Amino acid sequence: MSRDETDKDKRISRREFVKGAGASAVALGGAASIGTSAAQSQQNPYEVPGEWDLEADVVVIGSGPTGLPAAIRARDAGASVIIVEANYDAGGHGLMNGGTIQLGGGTKLQKKYGVKDSPETMFKDLTDWSVVETNGMPEYRYNDRAIQRALADNSAKTYDFLEANGVKFLDIPPSTEGAHAVGISARRAHEVIWPKGQGAESPRGGGGAGLYRPLEVTARNKGVRFLFNYHMDVIFREAPNGGRVLGVQASYTPRYLPGESTPMKSFYSDGNIGLTQPSVTVKAKKAIVVATGGSTGNINFRRIFDPRMTEVYQLAGSPYSDQDGSGEIAAMAIGASLWGTANQSFERNGYFRKRPVIGAQYTYINWTPDSILFPFVRATGLRVRKWDSLVLVNQVGKRFYNEDAGSWPYGTHHGFLEPYIQGDWRNPRRIKYDPQNFLDAALAPNEGSEPPDYAAGPVWAIFDADAVEREEWDLNPPATDPLYFFSDNTLEGLAKKIKKNPYQKPAMPPDYLRGTIERYNEIVDSGHDPDFERPDPKYKVARPPFYAAWATPVIHDCYTGLRINMKCQVQDMNGQVIPGLYCGGESAGGSSQHGQGRCTTQGYIIGGQVAKEPSWG
Ligand SMILES: Cc1cc2nc3c(=O)[nH]c(=O)nc-3n(C[C@H](O)[C@H](O)[C@H](O)COP(=O)(O)OP(=O)(O)OC[C@H]3O[C@@H](n4cnc5c(N)ncnc54)[C@H](O)[C@@H]3O)c2cc1C
Repeated sequence: MSRDETDKDKRISRREFVKGAGASAVALGGAASIGTSAAQSQQNPYEVPGEWDLEADVVVIGSGPTGLPAAIRARDAGASVIIVEANYDAGGHGLMNGGTIQLGGGTKLQKKYGVKDSPETMFKDLTDWSVVETNGMPEYRYNDRAIQRALADNSAKTYDFLEANGVKFLDIPPSTEGAHAVGISARRAHEVIWPKGQGAESPRGGGGAGLYRPLEVTARNKGVRFLFNYHMDVIFREAPNGGRVLGVQASYTPRYLPGESTPMKSFYSDGNIGLTQPSVTVKAKKAIVVATGGSTGNINFRRIFDPRMTEVYQLAGSPYSDQDGSGEIAAMAIGASLWGTANQSFERNGYFRKRPVIGAQYTYINWTPDSILFPFVRATGLRVRKWDSLVLVNQVGKRFYNEDAGSWPYGTHHGFLEPYIQGDWRNPRRIKYDPQNFLDAALAPNEGSEPPDYAAGPVWAIFDADAVEREEWDLNPPATDPLYFFSDNTLEGLAKKIKKNPYQKPAMPPDYLRGTIERYNEIVDSGHDPDFERPDPKYKVARPPFYAAWATPVIHDCYTGLRINMKCQVQDMNGQVIPGLYCGGESAGGSSQHGQGRCTTQGYIIGGQVAKEPSWG
């Protein structure tokens, strides 16, 4: 066995141990006591260590849009800060994103370009019961009002804070681009300038790097220390359901590129704490910040809110960083409550999306082969210009909806509703209902679905040689992934090959797929689609070879998480603050807003609070 494999085995066994033991500790009420020996703490991971490996006033878990502002502002207030980060580098999903940030309430740029906004307007927007998306889902109705008040009051201040800490905004009027669920009275989407050398600084090139690389550099310059490759598993608290939080335990999670024996390294290194031991404990003298990005990467956790979200669905930010619910789970184990779960359960704000890229596992980002992550990504995928060349089928090879239909709405924004009168009972009447049921149909169990979960399984795009010519696709790797893209001269042969995909559980019945395509070709001949009312069924699937490309929708945002108050302090099931524990961003509940505006703002709020906490040692 290579050293690489040995290390991985050790890592897995330690994390499995912590997970298993953690589960029993939760069942027993999460027993914890101060000052036990290292040997005892091996038996019960919730026993507080007598000695700590590292310590800081503030321990931030996660270095994304929430964690970095929290760390910088805490440092500005004089606190020592360690960021514990499971990944090999900083930024989280933030580093993967498009760089559009939604801030309002009267930012400098809004004022400069005459966009009328105020904290009061923003607060009323974010709590307006009368705004519903075109599929009828309420956008702001289930938001926690106190949390929205805090967001509205701190949004413009966050803009100033970001600018003061190295982020450069494009000097253009705020727009509606990518501004989902940030209220509809004003334009609130701001763009940042992508840094030079963006390819090297972000595994996807640019976008969020314009926010999180400057913030990371500022954090390092100000003395924030980074502990990369450590996954926080346990939060220690004085008593099972009482007292303050004391510190965390984290296990070593290095990442290796295929064939490499040295772990991947962060782009910048000043301030890195270079540990490699299997497990560390970090004492938090003042506060712990859960900034772990939510739970959409944890299959069991995400299914609490939507049981349809089985293992087949990939995350938009993968394979850079995960959002595995570990922050929520560790906090719940010491008494924290979840909050605002309706925001996650409803079909709204683009939390699950159809993507115009097929034939690869990771289809949200436009990956290029020069990315450092490409060995994990493996294929760029085929960009779909027009869906009219494709027939979409479920895991048993049957059509399920009009292929041209899109995702659920991507959320409301300025201009979505005209005229918009805040809180007006007529608002819902002005919205044209458009159910967009493509995703619901894709998520429905079909006749081949199997126990134990009767999952809907993957969606496959079926097409022929003519479609390849029309779309001008080069099918060779790295465009396509051999486990997510198949071809054969017959439809029956194609159906059999699809079984090689790891998420395709039942074999696709060959005669089903052939029958589907024969029927579809009849539909094209007739020019009319009585089955799913595709408006313009144009092209037959007739000329071999035939192809099947992975076209399964992708999970995007997390809209539920821990219960917090206006200061982002985590609360327990009785609404009591857990002293010293904070949370923000996609791991915090109570907000329906997409994206980094709420994350950075909550990071900003947290950073202003944590240094004020009393120190326990
Ligand atoms: C492809 C993509 C494009 C997007 N585009 C936009 C956009 O243009 N505009 C916009 O506003 N939003 C966009 N978003 C959404 C936005 O990036 C996220 O809302 C935001 O990154 C969430 O920030 P966060 O701090 O909550 O979590 P994350 O960014 O997920 O950061 C969490 C960090 O915590 C770490 N972590 C998790 N668990 C642990 C643990 N147990 N121990 C230690 N570390 C841990 C993770 O590795 C990660 O680094 C996009 C997202 C994606 C994926």
